[in-house]
Amino acid sequence: MGMRVGIDIGGTKTHAVAVDAAGDVLAESTRPTGRGHEQVLVSAELVVADLAGIIGVAPETFESIGVGIPGTVDVHTGYVSHAVNLGIEGLDLAVELGTRIAVPIYLDNDVNAAVLGAYRVLGHDLASLAYLNVGTGLAAGLVLNGKIHRGFGGFAGEIGHIPVEPNGLLCACGQIGCLETIASGIAIARRWPTDDSQPIRALFRAAEAGEPLAQAVRDRLADGIVDAVRILVLTTDVDAVVIGGGVMTAGRELWELLDQRFTALAASSPFLESVDLRGRVRPVPPGPSVAAIGAALLGETHPALTLPGSAHAGTAFA
Ligand SMILES: [Zn+2]
Repeated sequence: MGMRVGIDIGGTKTHAVAVDAAGDVLAESTRPTGRGHEQVLVSAELVVADLAGIIGVAPETFESIGVGIPGTVDVHTGYVSHAVNLGIEGLDLAVELGTRIAVPIYLDNDVNAAVLGAYRVLGHDLASLAYLNVGTGLAAGLVLNGKIHRGFGGFAGEIGHIPVEPNGLLCACGQIGCLETIASGIAIARRWPTDDSQPIRALFRAAEAGEPLAQAVRDRLADGIVDAVRILVLTTDVDAVVIGGGVMTAGRELWELLDQRFTALAASSPFLESVDLRGRVRPVPPGPSVAAIGAALLGETHPALTLPGSAHAGTAFA
């Protein structure tokens, strides 16, 4: 039947979808993400079992399982490293998951999965698309001419580490004043620490109530997101930029701040007016997680995984 599974492993939740050959979602499941190697694998196993149960098939019936995960991913070997929020330093995720479920496993990082899913959901009138993830960190995934663009070393879209404040905060990457130190969950935690379980909403509430520091951090956040969109559009000239991620749960109030800034930029610069930044940005499409949908599509678009230096070249893990 050609059903594929996509799993989006996030810092708190693991979302999964099963899609048919046309890419339409047949079933969904969400579970909390465990921390550490074993628990992350168990979370993935559980959502696959959920989907198989809902549809009424054995997990081995699925044609492929694609996984989107935050961290540094080797798409050829299925190895993930530096997934700090998940408690993973290095894990042979594709091999390990393929040992537990006898289905070919494909792996990519979360923003690449998200841009692929958003591109599918938004339709093919777009030649190119960026997915700007304003989450714990700040990064973008790129689809150019219908294909994921990674670049030479896999760094395409890592715009969170473009420095914009010469006297700004030290970034985890070692540079000073990166965009990620202004516009991300990490930035908000550093600049406006709170014990609130929903720090973004708490920040916007405090700013609304007139707290000067909260207003400054909130406004700088909006500035940083606008900078990120401008950098993406002026370097890639993508048709559209989808803005998603946990920080965007601030919702309408944040979008109003972005609108004000795009309008002011266009008014001050005929050049930027012609670029039409505002006309290119859009929210994440409603419905099932685009990152999970994109992960399911990895099995269609990705090269088969290969064990480094082995005779397994050209075969996916199973
Ligand atoms: Zn940095």
